[in-house]
Amino acid sequence: MSPSSPYKRVLLKLSGESFAPSGQRGISMQEVVDISTQVQRAARTGVEIAIVIGGGNILRGAQFIAGNSSIHEATAHYMGMLATVINGLALQDALESLDCQTRLMTAIRMDGVAEPFIRRRARRHLEKGRIVILAAGTGAPYVTTDTAAAQKAMEIEADIVMKATRVDGVFTADPEKDASATLFHRLTYKEVRDRNLRVMDPTAIAHCMEHDLPILVFNYRVDGNIERAVRGEDVGTLVTSHATAKR
Ligand code: UDP
Repeated sequence: MSPSSPYKRVLLKLSGESFAPSGQRGISMQEVVDISTQVQRAARTGVEIAIVIGGGNILRGAQFIAGNSSIHEATAHYMGMLATVINGLALQDALESLDCQTRLMTAIRMDGVAEPFIRRRARRHLEKGRIVILAAGTGAPYVTTDTAAAQKAMEIEADIVMKATRVDGVFTADPEKDASATLFHRLTYKEVRDRNLRVMDPTAIAHCMEHDLPILVFNYRVDGNIERAVRGEDVGTLVTSHATAKR
């Protein structure tokens, strides 16, 4: 454990949108390198970092479902999972260009492109100080990479799930649409559920709640915030079983 952090191992969830300029789709390597630079600084703290990467900048299964019966819903989700692998490859190269040791592991076997996700092997990589990028979600359709983040965090025994977003944390309303929205600093899982707050998808929340796995939602667009989050500094919204829980 890093002397300056309460965490030994964290699971960072990066959405696909963090790989594209605001409002755009696809991959901008400038954005990928910018976020990788933050990850590199966070990794230097000595905290072990696994990253679950989303695919929404390329495609989400849901966009193919409505009005397009020629693609089966499950197929659409598999396409979404493959999109996360494309992002994983971009992230791996960006991190390695910054001299980070990485491993890309996929939940759908893709020999020749990445290692298969094997729990013990992933943990071993982390222990050796490698940044482990987890792509292809859970390997199963009908869920999102939020659920994959919660599941993988439990499997690798991460201390916390850190969801990087483009807003400062969890608000009373969508801060990009409602100027009167206020930020929560602490929440309980129950409050998130009862108030139907947008933190992660409901399956992910249920997993975290059942396993008492804290969730931090924070803004990756503030430079240095990934390192601050990993160091346990007071950024974003922390969701735990007791709202008074210390960071
Ligand atoms: N997906 C899936 N199973 C998983 C993870 C993801 O079917 O375990 C599909 C789903 O269609 C999802 C897409 O992959 O919409 C891309 O992931 P996500 O939408 O979570 O990406 P993000 O919003 O984080 O960029």
